[in-house]
Amino acid sequence: MGWKEELASLTQNRNTPSKLRFDEPLSKYNYFGIGGNAAAYFEVSTTDELAHVARLKKRRSVPVAIIGRGSNLLVSDAGYPGIVIRLSGDFNRLEFDRNRVEVGAGVSLPRLSKIAASHGLSGVEFALGIPGSVGGALIMNAGAWGSSFGDLVERVQVMTDKGEFVNLSHDDAQFSYRHSGLRSYFCVTGATLTLTHGDAGEVENLMQDLYNQKITSQPFAEENAGCMFKNPSGHSAGKLIDECGLKGHRIGGAEVSKIHGNFILNLNSATAHDVLSLVRHIQDHVKRERGVDLEMEVQLLGF
Ligand SMILES: Cc1cc2nc3c(=O)[nH]c(=O)nc-3n(C[C@H](O)[C@H](O)[C@H](O)COP(=O)(O)OP(=O)(O)OC[C@H]3O[C@@H](n4cnc5c(N)ncnc54)[C@H](O)[C@@H]3O)c2cc1C
Repeated sequence: MGWKEELASLTQNRNTPSKLRFDEPLSKYNYFGIGGNAAAYFEVSTTDELAHVARLKKRRSVPVAIIGRGSNLLVSDAGYPGIVIRLSGDFNRLEFDRNRVEVGAGVSLPRLSKIAASHGLSGVEFALGIPGSVGGALIMNAGAWGSSFGDLVERVQVMTDKGEFVNLSHDDAQFSYRHSGLRSYFCVTGATLTLTHGDAGEVENLMQDLYNQKITSQPFAEENAGCMFKNPSGHSAGKLIDECGLKGHRIGGAEVSKIHGNFILNLNSATAHDVLSLVRHIQDHVKRERGVDLEMEVQLLGF
């Protein structure tokens, strides 16, 4: 039996809401709307299934990639030769105990922000305008307006490549600017967050204010993956790109946003190749004119 048959046997004749598809277009699962097919796409809804895939990966050396909402992802035009996993079901849990929140890695950040606000809990207001999942936010240490997701974390739950759960402390997770040490595990499965009691109306107002400021200063209408580059120490990547006159620059179907220089838009059926060519063009230009290296924030899959 090949790995595909073994994977298929996980869902066949079982009463599971998990979805398994072979040769599935990944463009459907990322905000750029770009990318070739995955050999297998598996929306995993139980911890047993996830543990099985972890062991399959190790035993058969099948490439496995975990994705969240695909909001910080550029997928290769050639797609991905292994299994792409997205978390659902068991991984969408969201439980409140006073100011503590147990949250699964599959929960979307906007949902977490809204429900926290309705409980009068403050801390995650900044995340209403970040269209990722908790898993992606933990891996990337997503943030805005001076707040980062890692700041809220008390513990992180991960799965190892043996399919075993491990609970990590905040310090074990090694959060830094748009980075964590969590990539060394097979999958991030959830976290315990500590929020602060506040007034529900005030929390709601702050959350909406931050959201409104975001949608008026960043492009939301066109397909994109958020900020393309990390801000180099002491600089704003968007400002550097703007000062180099690159706003509106276009390669193939990809364009540097005219609203915010750090966003690349898929305006007209852009390929991953178009986006990466534009990335290299921007990096060369900014290095030559300003002497600054721009490091990509958007993560690559299948390259
Ligand atoms: C319009 C827009 C606005 C944005 N604004 C912001 C912002 O203000 N601040 C900010 O920080 N980001 C922003 N982003 C980027 C993005 O939303 C965040 O980085 C988000 O945290 C990514 O989450 P995701 O679930 O989409 O992860 P994905 O993009 O799916 O994945 C990102 C990386 O995390 C890995 N990963 C995801 N889930 C798991 C998991 N459970 N276990 C292991 N690895 C995993 C993936 O393999 C990949 O390497 C924005 C994006 C868009 C499109």
